[in-house]
Amino acid sequence: MQSIHSSASEPPAPSLQIRRLGQIRSRDPRAEGVFWYSVVTTGVYCRPTCPSRHARPENIRLHDSLAEARVTGFRPCGRCRPEAASLYEQHSDLVRAACQLIEGGSKAPKGREIAAVVGLSPSQFYKVFRRITGTTPAGYARSRQGTLWASPVSVSSSEIPDFGTVILGSSPSSPATALPGF
Ligand SMILES: [Zn+2]
Repeated sequence: MQSIHSSASEPPAPSLQIRRLGQIRSRDPRAEGVFWYSVVTTGVYCRPTCPSRHARPENIRLHDSLAEARVTGFRPCGRCRPEAASLYEQHSDLVRAACQLIEGGSKAPKGREIAAVVGLSPSQFYKVFRRITGTTPAGYARSRQGTLWASPVSVSSSEIPDFGTVILGSSPSSPATALPGF
């Protein structure tokens, strides 16, 4: 039995290709701006998140840059519009701005306020923020502040053992009034 030895070394190129094909299949937003692909059967090139029906993997060619995709002579896809600034890029910029607002404040700004600053409705803002950061604005604020803004109702000590000392060490007059309305 060789159950312990699990770290088989993978050659980087094929695994990268497999990963990217997987990202195309799942329309992974993190792949945006990282690579593009073209489909030899349809003669178009696409963003990895293209909403069109997926081509067979053997008909997909991966490209590290938009320029490389253009060289194929194919047309830019009319659905995912690889030549336009993607919604994801626009949203990334907004979320980056929101994160700066959160980090810059001594207390947590309200989600509604941030949404207004970045020009989205609150519900859009939460959705976008969550999709890009994987957390909520409040969760992000907490992780950046390193303190417990919210009361630790749902934090079990077994999950996060270090919090015990953090709570004991922090003053009880920590900014409860700054608790955001997220
Ligand atoms: Zn497309």
